[in-house]
Amino acid sequence: MQQKLDYIKTRIRKAATACGRDPKSIRLVAVGKTKPAELVRQAITAGAAIIGENYIQEAREKFKALGDCTVSWHYIGHLQSNKAKYAVRIFDLIHSVDSLKLARELDKSAKKIDKIQPILIQVNISKEKTKGGVHEAQTLELVRTVSEFTNLSIKGLMTMPPYFDDPDRARPFFKALGDLQQQIRQAAISNVSMEELSMGMSGDFEAAIEEGATLVRVGTAIFGARQ
Ligand SMILES: *Cc1c(COP(=O)(O)O)cnc(C)c1O
Repeated sequence: MQQKLDYIKTRIRKAATACGRDPKSIRLVAVGKTKPAELVRQAITAGAAIIGENYIQEAREKFKALGDCTVSWHYIGHLQSNKAKYAVRIFDLIHSVDSLKLARELDKSAKKIDKIQPILIQVNISKEKTKGGVHEAQTLELVRTVSEFTNLSIKGLMTMPPYFDDPDRARPFFKALGDLQQQIRQAAISNVSMEELSMGMSGDFEAAIEEGATLVRVGTAIFGARQ
């Protein structure tokens, strides 16, 4: 575990340095979905500062089991509006907000516990039907509307390109998310910061870093293959 994690961190540093970025501007999200709490604990002990989870029930169990750990929890999976109340209690950042309905529920739930919930807007750059996310053309409008929710704070964008064996083929999708980030920045919407770009996974995080990723979500390369 220690070796795998150190190796990923080294690759992140190298990719950043190679394109003239400060390695500290990129944070690693260790994706623990389907992996037992004890394995996630090992990753935390080995120096993982952020754990990413995809399923609310699983995340609630791990959050409880690992309550003694100092670590940040990020939600990266599809979130149903009726689970919003659980999500706001656990997660420091929710990467996968892709509808007004979900944003509204998160805002309501965050208000109840007196929290300003940081979120990212998930964008379906590739327009694949199986992928979550708002379409590129509708993103600015969603950001504008969600910016008015007083208990949500938009920090940036997230995407998941199609899977390719060759990471260079994912690059145009990463670049498109960066372009969209710039566009939204130029709109200078109050209560919206566009500092975060969540993109890149085990197979393509280096390409994502070259295209501006600030959060890379790596599962398999740390925890091994999933069933
Ligand atoms: C599973 C998952 C990842 C991690 O994928 P790996 O290929 O295992 O690194 C990243 N992001 C999301 C949204 C995921 O669901």
